[in-house]
Amino acid sequence: TTTRVALSLQGVVAGYGQEPALHGVDLVVPEGSIVAVVGANGAGKSTLLRTISGLLPTSAGDIRMGGVSLAGVPVEERIRRGIVHVPERRQVIGELTVEENLRLGALWRGDRAERETDIAEVCEFFPALAARRKALGSTLSGGERQMLAIGRAFVAHPAVMLLDEPSLGLAPKVVSDIMTMLAWLRAEYGLTILLVEQNVRTALSIADTGVVLNLGRVVATRPAAELEADEQLRHLYLGF
Ligand code: ATP
Repeated sequence: TTTRVALSLQGVVAGYGQEPALHGVDLVVPEGSIVAVVGANGAGKSTLLRTISGLLPTSAGDIRMGGVSLAGVPVEERIRRGIVHVPERRQVIGELTVEENLRLGALWRGDRAERETDIAEVCEFFPALAARRKALGSTLSGGERQMLAIGRAFVAHPAVMLLDEPSLGLAPKVVSDIMTMLAWLRAEYGLTILLVEQNVRTALSIADTGVVLNLGRVVATRPAAELEADEQLRHLYLGF
């Protein structure tokens, strides 16, 4: 059997104003896989996700979903096609409860029963969230917010989940819980994840493929375990 490609980029150039932050990025995300894009601060990781979700235009190259070009497709339509972006700031709605935030993620899905099953499942896997089902978003800790942001993205049944630095600012134990959640969502549901992280070891520990981004260019694409073992690459680009 051949693996299908959920998302691919060919020669993508994008950025802010005149100066591109991405200089011709090639990337393939197979269905049901976790691809981790790692690299230093300013490598272009957030820019990459913003470009895929359509928040930034491409000035050259192409982004395809299941082989279909997204050229000219606006943000809302990309969301409808299943590109769900969880940005760095974990925007949960402070005035809504955990449960209401989760429901919001599934709002556009027709089947109410299915929606509630997903929400129950997210809560089951995250007792911390279940315990806070009725709590307002504004009262959550950083880790709880991140779990909720992922849970909300999951109940939208994304074709590809784009995750921007889910580990940022969180304690190691919480980071590990979140990575376990992602690995579980992939194993259980075949969720496809494109993850960008500065926390290289953590990201590579759950990824199938690791992509090293440096100054807006892909300098390596390898099986994650192999990448982690490559001392030279680590020294050159990853700082450990
Ligand atoms: P970080 O982890 O710090 O977010 P990153 O790898 O995600 O790093 P980007 O945020 O994508 O990197 O930044 C890539 C380049 O684009 C950097 O040179 C940065 O200064 C520039 N940049 C990012 N955001 C903007 C913006 N809103 N306007 C102009 N330049 C920007």
